[in-house]
Amino acid sequence: MSQAYTGAMLMQDTSPDALPWLTWTFAALVLLQAFTRLWLLSRQVQHVQANRSAVPDSFSDRVSLLEHQKAADYSGAKARLEFVAVAVEAAVLLGWTLLGGLDLLNTSLRGWIHDPAPSASSALTYQVALLLAMGLIAGLIEIPFDLLRHFGVEQRFGFNRMSLRDYASDALKGTALNLLLMTPVLAAVLWLMGQAGDAWWLWAFGVLAGFQLLMMVVYPTWIAPMFNRFTPLQDEALAARVRRLMDRCGFAARDLLVMDGSRRSAHANAYFTGLGRAKRVVFFDTLLKSLTPDEVEAVLAHELGHFRHRHISQRLVMVMLASLAGLALLGAASQWSGFYVGLGVQPNLGAPNDGLALALFTLILPAALFLLSPLGAWWSRRQEYQADAYAAAQADPRALSSALIKLYTDNASTLTPDPWYVRFHYSHPPAVQRLAALKSPLETAR
Ligand SMILES: [Zn+2]
Repeated sequence: MSQAYTGAMLMQDTSPDALPWLTWTFAALVLLQAFTRLWLLSRQVQHVQANRSAVPDSFSDRVSLLEHQKAADYSGAKARLEFVAVAVEAAVLLGWTLLGGLDLLNTSLRGWIHDPAPSASSALTYQVALLLAMGLIAGLIEIPFDLLRHFGVEQRFGFNRMSLRDYASDALKGTALNLLLMTPVLAAVLWLMGQAGDAWWLWAFGVLAGFQLLMMVVYPTWIAPMFNRFTPLQDEALAARVRRLMDRCGFAARDLLVMDGSRRSAHANAYFTGLGRAKRVVFFDTLLKSLTPDEVEAVLAHELGHFRHRHISQRLVMVMLASLAGLALLGAASQWSGFYVGLGVQPNLGAPNDGLALALFTLILPAALFLLSPLGAWWSRRQEYQADAYAAAQADPRALSSALIKLYTDNASTLTPDPWYVRFHYSHPPAVQRLAALKSPLETAR
């Protein structure tokens, strides 16, 4: 054997038959995921179209045929754009991995930053740069679809309130902020991967969990105000009512705020943010404009239901457990050369592979997790039923029903989604089931 074969021989020795099965499994997973999503989208389009000519019976006195058809056309337009996005996303993922995109980016950045003067700091810089560059490129690829969403579909159905200038300013601010926040976190995680020994993933988990908790305070207080204006709720009567409801539910929030959501979109919403005593209730101005005080109270009672049932903490714990499992898996995979080679990347020989492993992992994770999405969606819908049942007990259930109908209509959400599309993608129950559950509270929380 000539010396030129040494590298390849080494690879063969460490993982004799890792290559083919991982490559094929991954390719099959990407295609399975993409085709499932395309199949669901086409089902959704067909189902909505088939029900376009008549408003469902239980809504016929509240929703006009015109509104129903607008919702059908809006769902169709969104689904058709997603159809193209899903196909492109799968091609891009294969481009990054098996077709060599990440490998090319890795060798270029390593050759530029690390190889000329190898040192611990150049290794760290190169790895952080690799992950940031990958994120930036992925963001750039996403821009055309994002533009089509805002200025194509949303614009056509009268929901978009942004100018191209607003969009560009949001995108630049968002990117700058991401770089500012993510760079130190990535550097800390990569440093731990290199320095903290076999249990690095426990330390890295500590860093990520700490960052997440910090963001729960930092985001509502400093970041959200960079994008929207928050003003105290002016309507004294409504504020008093909301405070009475919160007292009744044993909930303390410091601020009741109105957000100028109408600056960007006509879609309406309300939410809670913050931790401990810094909790705040945020109403979109669009929500206050379309709902009566009774309805606002009922919607808020629903949100309080999420708190009462500890849905937010449960979600946080799930995210934490999942990231712990993910980091442990990453720790094992990064040690194995077959992981890189099988997914289309040559591992580094004279530089750490942690950044590369993290990049690869971030790329393949969504495709791998997609098959679990029915489970996550089911769990979320179950929580929505629980929050509705709580709201029905604490406020007027009829007001919640009429608020939901207004929100479905104003947001042009279809009343007739495809059941399989719902199983995979709906975090909230479809309107028909949701209102039926409100009418017979004993059967909720299925
Ligand atoms: Zn909810």
